[in-house]
Amino acid sequence: MSTDAPLDPSGADTPAAAPGTPTGLIHHPYRAPADFESPVAAVHKASTVFFPSVAAMRARTWVDKSAYTYGLHGTPTSFTLEARLATLEGARHVILAPSGLSALTVVDMALLQAGDSVLLPDNVYGPSKDFTRHELAQWGVSHQLYDPMQPQSLADRLDERVRLVWLEAAGSVTLEFPDLPALVRLIRAKAPRAVIALDNTWGAGLAFNAFELGEAGLGVDLTIHALTKYPSGGGDVLMGSIACRDDDLYQRLAWTHSRLGLGVGMNDVELLLRSLPSLPLRYAAQDAAARRLAAWAVQQPQVRRVLHPALPGSPGHEHWAALCSAAAGLLTLEIDPRHSSAQVDAFVDHLRWFRIGWSWGGPVSLAVPYRARGMRQLGTSHEGVLVRLCIGLEDVDDLIADLAQGLARLDG
Ligand SMILES: *Cc1c(COP(=O)(O)O)cnc(C)c1O
Repeated sequence: MSTDAPLDPSGADTPAAAPGTPTGLIHHPYRAPADFESPVAAVHKASTVFFPSVAAMRARTWVDKSAYTYGLHGTPTSFTLEARLATLEGARHVILAPSGLSALTVVDMALLQAGDSVLLPDNVYGPSKDFTRHELAQWGVSHQLYDPMQPQSLADRLDERVRLVWLEAAGSVTLEFPDLPALVRLIRAKAPRAVIALDNTWGAGLAFNAFELGEAGLGVDLTIHALTKYPSGGGDVLMGSIACRDDDLYQRLAWTHSRLGLGVGMNDVELLLRSLPSLPLRYAAQDAAARRLAAWAVQQPQVRRVLHPALPGSPGHEHWAALCSAAAGLLTLEIDPRHSSAQVDAFVDHLRWFRIGWSWGGPVSLAVPYRARGMRQLGTSHEGVLVRLCIGLEDVDDLIADLAQGLARLDG
């Protein structure tokens, strides 16, 4: 290609360097034609972003996403993912973070200061409790746990120092489904200055609408998601998001996020953009498979109880039924306490298709045993050992056969 004939007039301002020089390899007049379109957005990677002039450099702002300033503040690729994620929940603003956990901690850091108090459900995602007990406590932020299945337990802890209340539905591992509309109404009435944040990873923006909880004007202020789970669906990406509707709240979150220097890699964003169109299909398939497994598991003599919000009798089933149209692909087996913890570990060790590992939402089914004792500070306790199952995309009959051979060993 001749360097003295720019192919696009937009490149005409770039002078052609002498042939055969490194400068010519870096400063090149060629500009690809602009109107390329394909199913997946282009991957724009950058640390440095160019400005056409010093005046433009001084004038640009990233915070309203009207322009590009620096790689950490986003490229067309991350802006596109943020906009697409916003449509899931009808949010106005979405911020990407390097993991689901970092999305949680940004919210804590943006909204809490020394002297404030934060409330967490007893069945909250464990590492969120850890951050609260360690870093937030060190910084002078106090916290209390509440029993999400007892609205009075939350009411008793709402005072003027509470600036942030976390909700989670369904609860981590034990999958209790709280009465979200009742909890939100209570917080609005008793702690009007508190921000209400929901970890909506389980619902994925599909099971229910967190910003419209069954009646107009009733909703949470922000949601966080571990995009690591269903939105990615591959078991190969770590990412989180924060979504909200309010402009001022967005600004507070966005500035803290930016000052902390939290960026995401555009190759990871690309994977999310590729996975997002199939999210509803995968979620529905894993929901259907988990329900079949749950219905089978309740009939097994080694299983004392099956925890799954869509299963009648599971804690909070009625709240799930009142709000939700779908459930995630998670269920937890409460193994009869006549079986020892070592026996249950051996059951998990001998599963063939279920692999042992954290996280969920990918193609591979996973099993993790949890010792129930000491898991909760308040409220319901469970007996014996819990086995949390996350259902992948395998044939459900194969998964049932696998669990059947494993459970049979418990009696052997
Ligand atoms: C996995 C998970 C997180 C954290 O996500 P990571 O990307 O693994 O940091 C947060 N909340 C819930 C409910 C989760 O399941």
